[in-house]
Amino acid sequence: MSASERTSQVHACVLDAIGNTPVVRLGRLFRDHDVVAKLEFMNPGGSVKDRMVRYMLRYLPADVEHVVESSSGNTGAALAMAAAVRGLRCDVTVPDRTSTEKIRRIEAYGAEVHMCASDVPESNERSYYSMAESIAAEHGAFHLDQYRSALNRQAHYTDTAPELWFQLDGRIDVFVCGIGSGGTISGIGRFLKERDRRITVIGIEPLHSSYRAAVTGAAAEGDFGTVIEGVGKRAPSGTFDAAVVDDVIQVPDDTAVDYCHRLAREEGILAGGSSGCVAAGIAQLLPKLSGRIVTVFPDSGVNYLSKYF
Ligand code: PMP
Repeated sequence: MSASERTSQVHACVLDAIGNTPVVRLGRLFRDHDVVAKLEFMNPGGSVKDRMVRYMLRYLPADVEHVVESSSGNTGAALAMAAAVRGLRCDVTVPDRTSTEKIRRIEAYGAEVHMCASDVPESNERSYYSMAESIAAEHGAFHLDQYRSALNRQAHYTDTAPELWFQLDGRIDVFVCGIGSGGTISGIGRFLKERDRRITVIGIEPLHSSYRAAVTGAAAEGDFGTVIEGVGKRAPSGTFDAAVVDDVIQVPDDTAVDYCHRLAREEGILAGGSSGCVAAGIAQLLPKLSGRIVTVFPDSGVNYLSKYF
């Protein structure tokens, strides 16, 4: 191949290196089954949230110089990375249970982190959501608002889902996905259902989270509180689209952490707690499922080395 025939491998900036993440078969953990995971922690900002932030910034008004977002850490890191590239000021509000590694990562990009109460509903003035709203109001900053914005799920419908579909030649029987804001499952779920209505979409969340009740109508029970970051919510977020989700499975925290360890030791995949949660959910579901099961691993275990490992 001559030099002129070669496509340039140089990206104009790090945001152009988002996506094209690998899909890997989990053949050791789930022997005799076809289970594959898309490794979203291989994005430059470290998580699936790079895609959403890149997509949302396309709609950012041109005069915005200051952005703010409430986040369990990964959206914060993605936004802080993008803000560094675009020369924007960035504030991120996080619940106080967020891992030290994620907080340090956001700060390393030059953004400011605000620790907020994690044991209160969104409407409470001390919640990370309310704090983001007040920073936006006080400083005239733009609040991305991943928990309410339709751009969140659209990012995955437009970007993540077609990429996954192409990588798997459309061979997907069941899509299993952790639910935090619900953007990933709603965007990918809608795309898959539009391609083939027979594809089953199953959400995974920690015990006592609210999405199972929202999808199945089952009564919500117990007090929500989890050590798994990024998944589960006290009340479903506005971006979640229950119409494309067939069922939701709840996983105890210790089982999720156990599957994090097993992913590292048996598959050589150092993934975060929500990936462990999803892997544990798949193990729970396997006796009832057939065909190819596809999932997304949102972030890396490097984010939680001092917490789960
Ligand atoms: N896992 C992790 C580690 C996350 O940070 C998030 C985002 N909150 C999710 C899963 C869930 O993704 P989504 O918000 O798209 O539901």
